Amino acid sequence: MNILVTGGAGYIGSHTCVELLNAGHRVVVFDNFCNSFPEAVRRVETITGKSLALVEGDIRDRAAIEQALRQYQCEAVIHFAGLKAVGESVAKPLEYYDNNVVGTIRLLEAMQATGVKTIVFSSSATVYGMPQFLPYREDHPLSATNPYGRGKIMVEEILRDFHVAQPDSRIALLRYFNPVGAHESGLIGEDPQGVPNNLMPFVTQVAIGKRDRLNIWGGDYETPDGTGVRDYIHVTDLAIGHVKALEYLQKPQCFAVNLGSGQGHSVFDVVKAFEQTSGKNIPYKIEPRRPGDLPAYYADVTLAKSVLDWEATRSLKTMCADSWRWQMNNPNGFRA
Ligand code: NAD
Ligand code: UDP
Repeated sequence: MNILVTGGAGYIGSHTCVELLNAGHRVVVFDNFCNSFPEAVRRVETITGKSLALVEGDIRDRAAIEQALRQYQCEAVIHFAGLKAVGESVAKPLEYYDNNVVGTIRLLEAMQATGVKTIVFSSSATVYGMPQFLPYREDHPLSATNPYGRGKIMVEEILRDFHVAQPDSRIALLRYFNPVGAHESGLIGEDPQGVPNNLMPFVTQVAIGKRDRLNIWGGDYETPDGTGVRDYIHVTDLAIGHVKALEYLQKPQCFAVNLGSGQGHSVFDVVKAFEQTSGKNIPYKIEPRRPGDLPAYYADVTLAKSVLDWEATRSLKTMCADSWRWQMNNPNGFRA
């Protein structure tokens, strides 16, 4: 299949391009590089030994997307492009809604104009909000406490409405839990700009000596060891989930599914697993809770198993080992 991958130069997008190419698909990356580098796409080619097309453009530019969809005769879109920093979304809500919500509307218009009916959307576990029960199942009520999360809920609703109006559309809403890790080659991985917000890139930067210590946001949660619990999923497992979702979209439908490991791990679990696999000591200090953080959540993965025939197979240790290999081989990320 010819597939347009918006945000394909980014963290999850680049790993998904590898799996799409390995599965025999042809890939067109559409990215404005606001949070990524063309080098990531070149490395995808190195890993797979296959070439892909690269279009530099913004998803809010409907004509540019239409042109790319026509030129490469795309049959499906995997839509990663968007801004993803929760704190920044609170400070810059209009920028977030414009990029993530308006951008998706422009993309859907371009798909409609060119007759492309299949889209896989990057949603997030953040759409569930405060847990009313755990593990989160797909029918858990949706709520969000910041513009980033509200934008994800809005796009899910827009895609459901779009499917009602276009019953022949094929739509997957993939709710990711916490993606970590990197490709086993050490050639691509997460490349945060500035101080990382997320746990794993912060830990790897401590290990390599860029940061003095890890700040653990809260040691007094009602969790087994007092630190926050999340469902970490290896980015390669997540990428394979996209290939499975595309295969499942053979018939018209619109469905939401969790992509997680189904396991909860605390911050201490991650630190310990990282220390064991890397042999590095991670100094840390317990700091007050980070505003907006939930104590614990993890996925019910029953639906993904039964519907997509997919489950995460890579362990927390593999996630740590692959994150560390990427960090060691690329201390400055994709910048030379
Ligand atoms: P990323 O920032 O690494 O990748 C996003 C890519 O989109 C980047 O290459 C960026 O340059 C591009 N982009 C952004 N705005 C664009 C625009 N207007 N036009 C064209 N390209 C644009 O992020 P990621 O971690 O790979 O996340 C991908 C998607 O998954 C996002 O939609 C994100 O919200 C979602 N998601 C991520 C996580 C996570 O923890 N990483 C969790 C849940 C959901
Ligand atoms: N966390 C932490 N220190 C950091 C970054 C994160 O203690 O520097 C904790 C955070 O409080 C949460 C977990 O690690 O319990 C995962 O946070 P992350 O930001 O990676 O993902 P989130 O689930 O918040 O999107």
